Amino acid sequence: MPPVPWIWARASGPAMADRRRTPAVARHATVMVRGGTVVDETGERRADVVITDGVVTAVGPGLEVPTGATVLDAVDCLVAPGLVDLHTHLRQPGGEEAETVETASRAAARGGYTAVVGMPNTNPPIDNAAVALEVLGLGEPALCRVAVAGAITVGRAGECLAPMGELAALGVRLFTDDGTGVQDSGVMRRALEYARGLGVTLGQHCEDGDLAAGGHMHEGAWSSRLGVPGVPAAAEELMVARDIMLARLTGGRVHFLHLSTAGSLALVATAKAEGLPVTAEVAPHHLALTDAELAGYDTVFKVNPPLRTETDVAALRAGCAAGTVDAVATDHAPHPSQAKDGPLDTAAPGMLGLETAVAVTLQALGAERDGMAEGDGNGAVPPTTRPGAAASMTVGDVLALMSWRPARIAGLSVEQGGDQGGPIAVGMPGNLCVIDPAERWEVDPDRLASRSRNTPWAGRTLIGRVRHTVYRGEPVVVGTEAQR
Ligand SMILES: [Zn+2]
Repeated sequence: MPPVPWIWARASGPAMADRRRTPAVARHATVMVRGGTVVDETGERRADVVITDGVVTAVGPGLEVPTGATVLDAVDCLVAPGLVDLHTHLRQPGGEEAETVETASRAAARGGYTAVVGMPNTNPPIDNAAVALEVLGLGEPALCRVAVAGAITVGRAGECLAPMGELAALGVRLFTDDGTGVQDSGVMRRALEYARGLGVTLGQHCEDGDLAAGGHMHEGAWSSRLGVPGVPAAAEELMVARDIMLARLTGGRVHFLHLSTAGSLALVATAKAEGLPVTAEVAPHHLALTDAELAGYDTVFKVNPPLRTETDVAALRAGCAAGTVDAVATDHAPHPSQAKDGPLDTAAPGMLGLETAVAVTLQALGAERDGMAEGDGNGAVPPTTRPGAAASMTVGDVLALMSWRPARIAGLSVEQGGDQGGPIAVGMPGNLCVIDPAERWEVDPDRLASRSRNTPWAGRTLIGRVRHTVYRGEPVVVGTEAQR
């Protein structure tokens, strides 16, 4: 995949890394992850990993168990840098009925994430330093690192710019009015000029409000058949095209959130070929589900942007393989049951994502494993792909989209002064996840750590599951269960 060099370049102002805590749990001073296959940006290899006081202190095959170490079994598993989610709705403050920072971080840890970026569409929104500090404070004792995105405009109203400088001074690196797109091109232009000066990135929820108005699912054959007003693909693509032009005009960086259409990816591919400073994420559900899921009018499948067609799903998968897509981000959007009860037109859009993302993404991109490939005994394991899958990516390719590449977009990577994204090597922060790529498990909404239950995978069997997660040297998830 092509590198994204401009992401590496900027780290002006104090980074969120300044808020790092020392590892909290003394009784886990030494942790050994034993018998797994390490997968990081440098490749795949059989290796044990020892973490002492929050830092990786040994990596290699056949290591001796240090005295007093907590041993985590990783046989037949992948050992990867902790995942980084660019798009989590923490719901706190204001939406605690749906989720809190604590419950979201527990769901994240169970999903293999050691960092999440909380979206600012809370109540009140994260459009000033006080609210940002409140959420960051709630994240201090959490089971993963909690970063936040700031709003682009005051109240996410799309009119006046939020105090981005004061938020950037707290280490905020991503700004977005997510939930809605910035409709006014002049406001977006000024925001990009300002963001360029600050060295921060603007995330766009691409949706033309006028074109999308009144729609509850993708506008196409299924919406016609079901008699449900639709949202045309053009509502997303218009704003993608506009923001590409504004990136060209201003030199400001745009990160496209949850892209869902083939047309959007084609636009992004062209912009990248031109060298414009744009990146793109897709959500696991858009890689796996189509608008046909709405056939039963089940509101759990209502999401914004909506589930699209098979053609779009295929294009998103191909975009992941081709490097057009930089990250898979969950858009984890918890809702209490009363917000999802009732007809499609009144139900809230959004679905859970953190605890199922690895399995859904590995399967959608053809990188889940039905039985691990045997190594050659010298520590080398050939990357495994599934012939005939739509995109057929290696697990390393998929984990790049879920860990080290989003870490850079979030400004949380080690080279940017952060502690996320690996690689797994001596001296690096002890943030990693252990994934069994072959485990089959049925999703039971009542057993999820999220406070909400709106998963589209209820009752379905997925392949691939996070077995353990280590955050700052602490085993926060062991044997799929959160430890606190
Ligand atoms: Zn959004």
